[in-house]
Amino acid sequence: MDEKVRLQFHGAVQNTTGSMHMLHMGDKKILLDCGLFQGRREESRERNLNFPFKPAEVTALILSHAHIDHCGNIPNLRKQGFDGFVFCTTATLDLSSALLRDSAHIQEKDIEFLNKKRARRGLPPLQPIYTIEDTEKCLYNFHGVYYHKTFHVLKDILVTFLDAGHILGSALTVIDVRKNGHMQRILFTGDLGRKNMPILRDPEIPDNVDILIIESTYGNRFHGDIAQSDEKLAGIINRVVARGGKIIVPAFSVGRTQELVFSMKRLIDQKLIPQIPVFVDSPLSVNVTEIFRSHYECYGSEMRDLLLEGRDPFGFETLTYVRTVEESKALNDLKKPCVILSASGMCEAGRILHHLKNNIENPANLILIVGFMAVDTLGRKIAERQPTVRIFGEIYNLRAEVAIMNEFSAHADANGLPEFATAVSRQGDIKKIFVVHGEPDQSEALAGRLRETLGMEVIIPRRNEIFDLF
Ligand SMILES: [Zn+2]
Ligand SMILES: [Zn+2]
Repeated sequence: MDEKVRLQFHGAVQNTTGSMHMLHMGDKKILLDCGLFQGRREESRERNLNFPFKPAEVTALILSHAHIDHCGNIPNLRKQGFDGFVFCTTATLDLSSALLRDSAHIQEKDIEFLNKKRARRGLPPLQPIYTIEDTEKCLYNFHGVYYHKTFHVLKDILVTFLDAGHILGSALTVIDVRKNGHMQRILFTGDLGRKNMPILRDPEIPDNVDILIIESTYGNRFHGDIAQSDEKLAGIINRVVARGGKIIVPAFSVGRTQELVFSMKRLIDQKLIPQIPVFVDSPLSVNVTEIFRSHYECYGSEMRDLLLEGRDPFGFETLTYVRTVEESKALNDLKKPCVILSASGMCEAGRILHHLKNNIENPANLILIVGFMAVDTLGRKIAERQPTVRIFGEIYNLRAEVAIMNEFSAHADANGLPEFATAVSRQGDIKKIFVVHGEPDQSEALAGRLRETLGMEVIIPRRNEIFDLF
């Protein structure tokens, strides 16, 4: 290839959702991620509906992992004319299939609700951004690849997925570009995980990276030590059980739910918490847990051995996976202490809203925040302990206790991110770093740390900004 290689940033720049970047190789376009933007309703709809490029002109898409803010707009991309391959790991393929169908279902329901309101005001109905049918169509374009298997995207572009340690199937995308006879390497971290987490392997460190695109969700914040998470969780559960309350946990279906289940299993086995009922109330989480049970290739030895020995890491006697709406509703009448894990993770949709509605005003209860909450989401408002919150259009007083545990975070923190970049820079001569996927103060903080420690050009791109790479 002798044409210019350029990189354009379309989403998850100076915020954390809607990850989408474009590599321009001459007239060919390779998209990195195609996530849904999540935030205020109108702005989200507008941004998700309209791509800043022609989808039909995109040659291929490389997907870092199955979180909706990275894969959630692929059905719409397909619907608007994209028909290339979507390359991802095999686990990401399985997870995307479950997550995208769920996302389409949520959007269909959402628009139904909205259209009822619009009809009352005499406004014409709106269409969902995509339907389940659109989702099924786009899944035919997916192509699963194992970690470490290098594949061609174009004649002069080779890609290899390495472990990112963030969620099941998450990948660091290593892109090798052959230009004028030389190889240049671009590394896109997607979302970067942490070392020593209980389920997944540690993030890998690629060598000879020229251009690094790194996330910055927690560029200026530190997580608690994962080694102390069991103890802290036990403390919270025992306290709430003693006062007869319920624990409501908004949890991402992928990763956080399984980690919490695995942690509670250990706590019950070690008799550090009583054998209380635990419910995973989200059909998606139930499906996703099945996918976790089948991807041995993604695990470290401890988890793999458990699975091989037939000892279910994601099940115990008092744990119930809830599928039907009736079972879910029955949880409202349960008067004894219990733990309810439900999605969506940021409380934007799904069954968690019913559980919050029914439990948020009782001070005996506790809402446990275990994941990142983007600005303007209900989850963020609860995490900030706002005195009143709106659920299904009604105002509720936040009287339940709110506890925040960031020990389970699947993202590298303000130590982990620069540590990773430093380790990569020891394996080769990085020329330029782009900081993405963080709110402005987080991206600024990481960029500052990287300039200081590595002494190189670090850029926080603006939306749709384009850069010549080589
Ligand atoms: Zn993610
Ligand atoms: Zn993300």
